Amino acid sequence: MNLRLRSLALPVLLAVFGLGVAQAQPAIQPTADITQPPAAAQPSAHFDADAATEAYLNLIPPAARARSDAYFEGGYWLILWGFLYSSLISLLLLHLRWSARMRDLAARLTRFKALQTLFYWVQYLLLTTLLGFPLEYYQNFVREHQYGLATQTFGPWMGDEMKSLLVGLILGGVAVVGLFAIVRKLEKTWWIWGAIASLAFITVTIAISPVYLQPIFNKVTRLNDPKVTTPILRMAHANGIPTNDVYQIDASKQTTRMSANVSGFANTMRITLNDNLLRRGSPEEIQAVMGHEMGHYVMNHIPKFLLFFLVLIVVFFSYLFWGLKWALGRWGERWQVHDVSDPAVLPLVVLLAGVFFFVLTPVLNTETRTQEKEADMFGLNAARQPDGFAQAAIHLAEYRKMRPGPMEEYVFFDHPSGYDRIHSAMVWKGQNLELFEKTPSQPAPQPVPSAAPTPSAAQ
Ligand SMILES: [Zn+2]
Repeated sequence: MNLRLRSLALPVLLAVFGLGVAQAQPAIQPTADITQPPAAAQPSAHFDADAATEAYLNLIPPAARARSDAYFEGGYWLILWGFLYSSLISLLLLHLRWSARMRDLAARLTRFKALQTLFYWVQYLLLTTLLGFPLEYYQNFVREHQYGLATQTFGPWMGDEMKSLLVGLILGGVAVVGLFAIVRKLEKTWWIWGAIASLAFITVTIAISPVYLQPIFNKVTRLNDPKVTTPILRMAHANGIPTNDVYQIDASKQTTRMSANVSGFANTMRITLNDNLLRRGSPEEIQAVMGHEMGHYVMNHIPKFLLFFLVLIVVFFSYLFWGLKWALGRWGERWQVHDVSDPAVLPLVVLLAGVFFFVLTPVLNTETRTQEKEADMFGLNAARQPDGFAQAAIHLAEYRKMRPGPMEEYVFFDHPSGYDRIHSAMVWKGQNLELFEKTPSQPAPQPVPSAAPTPSAAQ
């Protein structure tokens, strides 16, 4: 199956994007790792948060900034192209009656409804993956290489794509079979039970993700360098996080991005650092990032997000209930889609979902950005490493725009902008200068959990 899919996909992608590879531009130079806060950000009697922020931002060379702005702004358009492209695929499947044909084929293979749904799903996912491949290849392979963010050659990248497809076949299969069973059994109230089942499904997926899904793509190991883990675990325990483990993931296999995250649910919840952060980040920077991740953990951001999602998904399913009724009433016969319980309705569901989530882009981004801002402030207080936090923001500037306009930030940013993050850190520093000042007679008070950034402590 894999081979056949690949042999079909290759001619298409070479025809469409072969030139893109040949013309790949030289990789972006990574922003220099900062070893010392700039002069304006050093503690002094006239410390000014605005000037300190500007001094940090000036560390990014103009060419590097122009490039990461172009990368990030291109991402805005990709939201639109992704929406239009997937809508087009759904409309093709309906109008050309491919969806109806896939349903008929599934019905010839078995008389069991659940299996018919599953067979339909397999055909649907293979076909839409193939049709969607040119955009997928451009967005996640060609473009990532153009901007120097990708580290994989085509073979291993394609291997990961195949793994994703397999995960989609299995997990998506379970979800689709379950949801269509609900629609068949509960003709009038399926939308409310469907919403609840979707929430349960997403919760389980989040819970199994760090233990069963992440290891499919990357090696996840316990971090056991006491130089890194001791201050992190001290900070964790000081904030009531009952763990003795921090994890690391070999993200450098795929990307040059530095990052860390909180994943899992209940017993599987954990903090993971990627190896790019471990390799390039100073101890202060790693602690600042960990403080941020601990904020997500302590403030229960994943359970809160699931509550937000519950509201969203109930609204979505009621919209779906009316939207499907309306569209099937108008075009159902033409598309040969019988009713809501007919698996051939799936492209229509995906089309309506695409419209719903496209329109809600600013709402979804604002929900996550608000949580990220909370985690930023928590992290500054927990780690007390404003310069480490500014360093992290500079590193993230390799793939994020630093200074968007207010509307731009509201609509497109799922994290506070780099400017906002550095400015918050410098305001915090300005109000806690005594932690960083040294007088000749008296050693500086030690910030918890480790020393203030000094040239000797920083990498
Ligand atoms: Zn975060």
